[in-house]
Amino acid sequence: MDPNFHDLVIVGAGPAGLTAGLYAARSKRDTILLEKLGAGGQVLTTEWIENYPGFPEGIGGFEIIDRMKKQAERFGLLMENEEVLSLLTQGPQIVLTTPAKRLFCRSVILASGAQARKLGVEGEGSLTGKGVSYCATCDGPFFTDAVVTVVGGGDTTIEEAIYLTKFAAKVFVVHRRDQLRCTKILRERARENKKIEFIWDTVVRRIEGVDQVQSLQLQDVKTGRESRLDTEAVFIFIGTLPVTGFLKGVVDLDKEGFILVDREMKTNLPGVFAAGDVTSQSVRQVAAAVGQGAIAAINAEKYLEEQVYV
Ligand code: NAP
Repeated sequence: MDPNFHDLVIVGAGPAGLTAGLYAARSKRDTILLEKLGAGGQVLTTEWIENYPGFPEGIGGFEIIDRMKKQAERFGLLMENEEVLSLLTQGPQIVLTTPAKRLFCRSVILASGAQARKLGVEGEGSLTGKGVSYCATCDGPFFTDAVVTVVGGGDTTIEEAIYLTKFAAKVFVVHRRDQLRCTKILRERARENKKIEFIWDTVVRRIEGVDQVQSLQLQDVKTGRESRLDTEAVFIFIGTLPVTGFLKGVVDLDKEGFILVDREMKTNLPGVFAAGDVTSQSVRQVAAAVGQGAIAAINAEKYLEEQVYV
């Protein structure tokens, strides 16, 4: 058997990709899952998940991924660390290129996920890893008893701000409006938390520091007044961007670059499906990604079955 030919290739080992992999491996379909780094994706940046059914006390991000991976591997899912650089179709064949090889297949499930959106201000790039962070689980413990700042007003922002109060002495939340976007339960928890202080109607203009973040240059969007906030770290949680650079011009994307799919998780290309945070339908929930992964795998299986008789 040609090791570079498979029935199905899954791209990405987050909850959507691992679920698709579990379904495909369990149906004994010749499948390979390609993942750039290790399994997990954005879930690994989440300390504790409270809304994934079946875990009444909640479950850690690392543990849920570990369990999903083991379950897929138990049915023989083949996984390789490879970054997919391009996808193209050649008749009924789909060709994926990685730095090491070309892979040929008949169907693909794209589950390449999303990554943190950047603020795009001065100091952000140069101080990343030196106090600028996009992952509270990874970097929060470095800021024990420190003053830290969180930017944004969504569910992620507030969840992570609350998590950071486990370590930090004080957590400022800088939000560009005077109302949070996050759900009521998180709003209430944050307001009750004595370590959290909100700075409303404010944006970050610059992140300052030499070898480490020292302060933020802020601007009130209503008055235009500028101010400086001393902080040892800034955690940026202002939404996500899809990992779809390798698909541009080939797979139909929405204006923000997320993959357009129908109810069956089909893309515009025959045999190419997508699932999870990379899709335009994503609500960024593990439960939803898992559901989409299952739908994509079931429909990819149907597609492959039908191809045999064409
Ligand atoms: P989000 O809901 O898009 O929120 C992003 C936040 O960042 C918003 O408050 C937004 O402000 C702000 N923002 C965006 N661009 C900005 C910029 N350039 N400068 C300053 N602020 C900026 O993103 P998310 O929190 O990652 O959530 C995404 C989805 O996942 C949502 O559907 C959410 O419900 C879901 N989610 C759910 C859970 C949970 O159920 N526990 C946890 C995490 C995420 P505005 O409000 O002014 O737009």
